[in-house]
Amino acid sequence: MKRLIYADNAATTKLDNEAFEAMTPYLLNEYGNASQPYSFAREPKKALAEARQIIATAINALPEEIYFTSCGTESDNWVIKGSAFIDAEKRATITSAIEHHAVLKACEAIERLGLPVAYIKPDSKGLITPKPLESIITDNTRLVSVMYSNNEIGTIEPIKELAQVAHRHGALFHTDAVQAVGHIAIDVKALDVDMLSASAHKFNGPKGIGFLYIRKGVSLGSFNDGGSQESGRRAGTENIASIVGMSVALKNNLAKLNENESHIIKLEHLLLSGLSELDYIRNGAENHIPGNISLSFKDCDGEALLHRLDLAGICVSTGSACDSVNTQISHVLKAIDLEERYAKGTIRVSLGKDNTEEEIFAIISALKKIVKP
Ligand code: PLP
Repeated sequence: MKRLIYADNAATTKLDNEAFEAMTPYLLNEYGNASQPYSFAREPKKALAEARQIIATAINALPEEIYFTSCGTESDNWVIKGSAFIDAEKRATITSAIEHHAVLKACEAIERLGLPVAYIKPDSKGLITPKPLESIITDNTRLVSVMYSNNEIGTIEPIKELAQVAHRHGALFHTDAVQAVGHIAIDVKALDVDMLSASAHKFNGPKGIGFLYIRKGVSLGSFNDGGSQESGRRAGTENIASIVGMSVALKNNLAKLNENESHIIKLEHLLLSGLSELDYIRNGAENHIPGNISLSFKDCDGEALLHRLDLAGICVSTGSACDSVNTQISHVLKAIDLEERYAKGTIRVSLGKDNTEEEIFAIISALKKIVKP
């Protein structure tokens, strides 16, 4: 069998073994509904409370500020749509032009309902600084939503400073931290954010589960109406196995945060120095999520690069996609004004804790064969 080199960890990650083991009892034997009053529901109920506590501790929140959702997309949609009509006086939303589509498409949906949304353009490194926010925010702004770190280019945004601007104008601040949680230390109180989205499968947890941090006292419409689960704000029988798996994966990742980070940064340097003879731009800011490496090769076709690497058993993402007529450059690369000659030849290599030096050498060697210096 051909060896697989998985270098697309920003797309999804491998399930943590301990997380998998922790999940199985709730899939097989402890299948009781946590909302029921009888003793068979005691164990799932306890597991739910413990997982909520673990996740809250991981981001310095209170357990009652953690709401389980089905994914990062749901958490983002909940914030954008759930806050849309809570204050008739404050109707405007501000976000950035480089958000994930989970935020952008949700914003388009509220625009269609007549609510104004403004999109901040980043600088050439993908940074959203407080200055452009200051210039457009008004006392009618209800919500500012800026991602913690960009999924395509890894740039980490100055969240604390942006949240301060929002709060000075009486607006709520949300951050889509789907690419950050489990990879860097996050403290919601120190950041002073009102809401934060996360997704388990980005930090070695199972797919189909995520959470939304909602600071105590923040007014947000319910996501699902129905039962009293998640304090009545997100009704639906809880997915205990996945919630438990998510909490174990997060705890394990955070326990090895520094170790993983230095390993990944070492691999990142190895990759970049190995490619030095090729004509490419590395996108994103100095302050970025470890291992998120967006490379734009001059006069190349990103989709063709992806397929050639795939033939060599290497999984990466692309920042551009071809249809029969044109190459579509991603909204992020467009927003940072990356020159088209480079933008078209963009791939994202996203390394994780399980990648090895040997794999990096294989990626370098494959890229050198495909991309001519
Ligand atoms: N937000 C960001 C920044 C992401 O990178 C992703 C997934 O790639 C999402 C949201 C959506 O997360 P999920 O796949 O859990 O719906």
